Amino acid sequence: MSIHAASARVFVGRAEELMAAVDPEFLDLLGWSPDRSVLTFPIGHPLLGMPLCRVVECGCVAYSTSGLCRNCEKRWKSADGAFEVFVAAPRPVRRRNGVEDCAVGGCSRPWVTRTRQLCSAHQYQRVKMNLDLPEFLRHPAVYPLPSFGTCEVAACDRQRSGKVSAYCLQHTQRRTRMIKEGTFPGDEAFRRAMRAVSKFVDVNLRGLAPLVVAEVIYGLQERIRGGTKTPPWHLRPVCELARTRQVSTLDELDPASLCRRRQALLNALTTASRRLGMTPESERHKDVWDAAAFGRSGSLNFTGVRQPWLREAVKAAVCDELPRRRGVQARGQMQTHINAFVKLSDSLHLQRDDRGTHPALLERQDIVNFSNRLAFLAEQGGSAPTRGSLSPGR
Ligand SMILES: [Zn+2]
Ligand SMILES: [Zn+2]
Ligand SMILES: [Zn+2]
Repeated sequence: MSIHAASARVFVGRAEELMAAVDPEFLDLLGWSPDRSVLTFPIGHPLLGMPLCRVVECGCVAYSTSGLCRNCEKRWKSADGAFEVFVAAPRPVRRRNGVEDCAVGGCSRPWVTRTRQLCSAHQYQRVKMNLDLPEFLRHPAVYPLPSFGTCEVAACDRQRSGKVSAYCLQHTQRRTRMIKEGTFPGDEAFRRAMRAVSKFVDVNLRGLAPLVVAEVIYGLQERIRGGTKTPPWHLRPVCELARTRQVSTLDELDPASLCRRRQALLNALTTASRRLGMTPESERHKDVWDAAAFGRSGSLNFTGVRQPWLREAVKAAVCDELPRRRGVQARGQMQTHINAFVKLSDSLHLQRDDRGTHPALLERQDIVNFSNRLAFLAEQGGSAPTRGSLSPGR
């Protein structure tokens, strides 16, 4: 089975749940389908869209505050005259790197170059027939040719360049260059790790695990519902990192290699996905609670309580107490309670032979030992800030 067939596989389990929660209109808005697996960001959308370059007929995305694309920004720096005049003059014809279909009607092979506009077979035929392009296109002996199939790079949706190569022209060239440089990792790793030849409004989800695809789409929907602007160039590096690392869920990604804005986006995606279907009942069995399940912000962490029986007892107490608390500090107060039990847990762990694992064997002496330990820590000015150490007038 090729990688493309694998990426079109239906969603199951958690991925299915996430996809079921995505509005079909949202999928249409982004032009997404399982076979295509590319999100195309709509330029005019207030949150997903982006401003276009102010230069007449440029059509590229404006990145800088001046409202120009990178290329026009470069031209503007070396241009004379007024800004208004500059933006009113159409951008000169440029070399674009987009690959399009062969100019022969219905031919599904990619053109060789923008100037030739024909696939290699039709280009060869045209030279042999010694015709110019318009004459060649009208000639009755010219008929469209079937595609060689899609490039074998998982992320790539371009057509293969020929019968022999398994890749599009760009990836064939890249492969040859890597072999020459001695950096070619083998075809299988190459197919998985190469990025798509990006178009600026597209975010390519090919070659990602189905759960990652679902997390990205559902997370993006929730972020847009929350009113946060998310341009494609923030989402694209997150997806590329997930593809390079071949993770099975976004939770496995180490955000350290992303810039802060993209870290925030990754965090928003994973949080949204985690919260889908979350209830107090499902959350209370975990060791770290997302306080959103209880209508609070932040989290509650029970991992410091070592003994399973004590941890479960603290969870039950917090679950009981939390809904009764009012105000924004409720979560903080509950975590302070939990931290107090962490100290008791540490004391049992350090001072009892059975590490405090058997509640039935606990006795009065354990509480005396605990009190002594607290007094000792307070005296050391150690880990626990106490009432005494916080008071003024040292
Ligand atoms: Zn421009
Ligand atoms: Zn052709
Ligand atoms: Zn390719």
